[in-house]
Amino acid sequence: DTIGANLDRAVAAWPDREALVDVAAGTRWTYAEFGDAVRQLARGLLGSGVAKGDRVGIWAVNCAEWVLVQYATARIGAVMVTINPAYRAHELAYVLGQAGVSLLVASQSHRTSDYRAMVESVRGECPGLRAVHYIGDGSWDLLLDAARTVDDAQLAAREALLSCDDPVNIQYTSGTTGFPKGATLSHHNILNNGYSVGGTIAYTERDRVCLPVPFYHCFGMVMGNLAATSHGACMVIPAPSFDPAATLRAVEQERCTSLYGVPTMFIAELNLPDFGSYDLSTLRTGIMAGSPCPVEVMKRVVTEMHMAEVSICYGMTETSPVSTQTRRDDDLERRTGTVGRVLPHIEVRIADPVTGVTLPRGEAGELCTRGYSVMLGYWEQPEKTAEAVDAGRWMHTGDLAVMREDGCVQIVGRIKDMIIRGGENVYPREIEEFLHAHPGIADVQVVGVPDDRYGEEILACVVPRDAGAPPSLEDITAFCRERLAHYKIPRRLEILDEFPMTVSGKVRKVELRRRFGE
Ligand code: ATP
Ligand code: MG
Repeated sequence: DTIGANLDRAVAAWPDREALVDVAAGTRWTYAEFGDAVRQLARGLLGSGVAKGDRVGIWAVNCAEWVLVQYATARIGAVMVTINPAYRAHELAYVLGQAGVSLLVASQSHRTSDYRAMVESVRGECPGLRAVHYIGDGSWDLLLDAARTVDDAQLAAREALLSCDDPVNIQYTSGTTGFPKGATLSHHNILNNGYSVGGTIAYTERDRVCLPVPFYHCFGMVMGNLAATSHGACMVIPAPSFDPAATLRAVEQERCTSLYGVPTMFIAELNLPDFGSYDLSTLRTGIMAGSPCPVEVMKRVVTEMHMAEVSICYGMTETSPVSTQTRRDDDLERRTGTVGRVLPHIEVRIADPVTGVTLPRGEAGELCTRGYSVMLGYWEQPEKTAEAVDAGRWMHTGDLAVMREDGCVQIVGRIKDMIIRGGENVYPREIEEFLHAHPGIADVQVVGVPDDRYGEEILACVVPRDAGAPPSLEDITAFCRERLAHYKIPRRLEILDEFPMTVSGKVRKVELRRRFGE
């Protein structure tokens, strides 16, 4: 199926079920209403002259219109370019130029970001950009008005030209390890992945999925939106950008059955002073993904947030995104200690990072994956694509992992984050996991910093539970001494209020290394 055809099935199957709720805007659509709104915008885009394969950019915080643009562009064979709402003007200009965006939909403003001012400031540098429509003002209405010039037969004629292997999105990676790369993905790539992820957590038309994760990223738009609509579930948007209290309020008021987040989002929700006052009893499942999920946090999510079936996913933008996922009936050990098993129709092998030889179960190496989920390529960067996807169509993820005897995969860390201290390989993840159990530590990141004697030294960056009484290096050393090998114990400590983050909620270790590396 194409994404448009799949949405038609959902509309036919569940016309009166709710498809989307935007809490902040008060928007509430059934599948029939959502389907109509998508068609209207699709006709509007056709009426504005968007051709098959044209790139349509979306630079907006989470809102109902974002989702309309996602499905309407897919419907007419345009390629939606998702742009990180945290970008500043020069980053926007780069993406608009790199992806060749001809029509842009943008938020007007949100919090401290004046999107309109930034767009207008770079318009002169982007000759390919023909039109900009701001959500919620007259320029958005113009787009909808253009629908009047196009009838359903013209829309159907366009749809007849589409194939599920056509590119449908350019999604930029999070930029955790460097400059974001634009992964080009097809209908087939992301629709199958969303459907598969939703199937593993057994979505039905009775599920209501709370989505505080940004839509610009695959976690929101594929594992959230596509997983929901392909199973008839409802997408609930708690707020335009992440707000822990608004998220829990939306779960309570909208009686959500599923909640998504990267680990830091769940930590923020659990640490709300009034956490205990929210009724979260409707939750049964959810997804935690994007970065390593600490065991302690998982345990609290299961017991205190009622998410007994919570699932962990592992993946990356380039693979649509999910490669492995834990199952509902996996015990807590599997769901906290691993990222689950390989999804159907996807292959995973663990390769020696140097020789490329496939390693036996139990040994750590680079996770490589192949199957329907591997991207078409990085947009107009064939050399980068060739570095990541080999001639056998294996995607080299840059992540270190172990395939256990039971088929569950453990992520050991990123190749780029591995610390080599005095010749010993140290995986920050293991130390972070351990330090999370320290009573004085709310959150922790471990990075390698240059050291004259050992080449690299281990630095623990700690956000204390009580800012007035942070743990000392001596406390941490004493805590580690009994249970960690000598060479894994952090020798340096920095106390922080918060970590530098990507908008998709990942800690930018590069930034920590840069800041404390001198
Ligand atoms: P960039 O490629 O621009 O540096 P990025 O890799 O963070 O950024 P994404 O595609 O958003 O961009 O994230 C994919 C990466 O996130 C994976 O390669 C992996 O390192 C990490 N990741 C995803 N899920 C998990 C998980 N469940 N556990 C541990 N790490 C994860
Ligand atoms: Mg990456």
